[in-house]
Amino acid sequence: MKKEFYKSVSFKLSVLSIIILLSLLTSAFMFNSQIDKLKKRIDYIYFGNYIPVLKLHTIDDTYNALIECMKKYKRCDRSSYFKKIRSEWKYYNNAYKSDSERMVVNKVDKSVMNSLNNEAKIPVYNSVINEINFLKEHEKKVAYKKRKEFLEEYSSIKDYLFYNMIILVFISFIFIALIIYSIIKKDNQLKILTKKYKLEAITDGMTKLYNRKYFDKIFDNMPFISNANKWKCAFIILDIDFFKQYNDTYGHDMGDVTLKAVASTLKKYFNKEYEYVFRLGGEEFGVILFDTDEAILEECLKDVNKSVESLNIEHKNSKISSVVTISIGAIIYEPNSYVSCNRLYKLADESLYKSKENGRNQYTIYKEE
Ligand code: GH3
Ligand code: MG
Ligand code: MG
Repeated sequence: MKKEFYKSVSFKLSVLSIIILLSLLTSAFMFNSQIDKLKKRIDYIYFGNYIPVLKLHTIDDTYNALIECMKKYKRCDRSSYFKKIRSEWKYYNNAYKSDSERMVVNKVDKSVMNSLNNEAKIPVYNSVINEINFLKEHEKKVAYKKRKEFLEEYSSIKDYLFYNMIILVFISFIFIALIIYSIIKKDNQLKILTKKYKLEAITDGMTKLYNRKYFDKIFDNMPFISNANKWKCAFIILDIDFFKQYNDTYGHDMGDVTLKAVASTLKKYFNKEYEYVFRLGGEEFGVILFDTDEAILEECLKDVNKSVESLNIEHKNSKISSVVTISIGAIIYEPNSYVSCNRLYKLADESLYKSKENGRNQYTIYKEE
């Protein structure tokens, strides 16, 4: 029961759904983590470099404005300038700095703090401006470096996502293809099995000819097919002569062998499309030929009598020959003649009886008197 489940279509479809779900989840996690990484980088460039440079610009401008004010007015009020410089510097100073940057920034920090008193002279401010400009250049260089790193990382993340997606799609595709392949294979096997069982249901086990059940189906439909296609059709009954004596002489097993030999001769002879050979029962066979005529039928029957005779199967107790022979009765169904199947069978059987009466190993085709 368990094994059956693992082989079943529903199990395969469940595996397929789980694979697709896992692939989607993996790609979602991958995208999420990579996008987070990218966001951090952009944050760093913006808040770590762009904003500090802006602050330094403002500090630089404020110092210059202070110098202008001191040049213009002897009693220039420096407090508003100091306030702005202090707050902007504080922001800049508190932003993240690497260890080497921190040393430089600490030095400038001292200079800035010393400059924020009313006794300081213009050259002090100019020297602080120089230090601020140095920092600005430094920040710019760092920003360039970071941007370059970001672009490189961006392109590697892009490649990473692209190749991972391709691998994921490829693996999913292989799994899906395998599952579809196995489903199709199973479906084909089932079709072959169904065909086989269908064939078995209409085949006679011993002779491998079509069986009586199938004969009934085809024979019942013969008049309709004949009418619809304007075909003459033939129904033939064939019976082995003195077969009872054959069994009595050579045994039932040899009887079976001979039965099979005659059956296979008929099957080989009537092997075209629209030619059907049946075992009607015992040592009696039936043939239905669609789309035929009297001349063809007569030629066939002559051939079949000869073919069985030329099998040369010894039959020393036959009253008419030294070998196995058959007698045949046949009838042609004319399209739209509306003769019933029962009557056709009866007339063919009567023809067979005539062949038997007339000395066996011959055929009789029914003719209306
Ligand atoms: P006739 O020429 O008039 O047809 O004589 P016959 O002996 O062939 O006819 P009858 O109907 O008296 O006997 C048919 C025999 O066929 C009887 C039966 O033992 C034999 N038979 C029927 N089916 C089989 C079979 O499957 N195997 C074998 N070995 N013999 C079978
Ligand atoms: Mg017989
Ligand atoms: Mg018979």
